[in-house]
Amino acid sequence: MYSRTQNDNGTYNTRCLYCFMTIASAVETVDELNGLEARHVCPERALANLLAQEKQIQEHAQRN
Ligand SMILES: [Zn+2]
Repeated sequence: MYSRTQNDNGTYNTRCLYCFMTIASAVETVDELNGLEARHVCPERALANLLAQEKQIQEHAQRN
């Protein structure tokens, strides 16, 4: 999930909606945006996945 905005000069900025980090600014093409977004390793998303996994394990443990 990324939030893209366009500058007056036609370049783009993109920001991650999980960690609110600005991934890139003044990017000239959408292709480049796609590449930069794909390379973003999101700390918030990794943490959320980890917590979800842990919760699943705990719930599983309670059932048995
Ligand atoms: Zn992120």
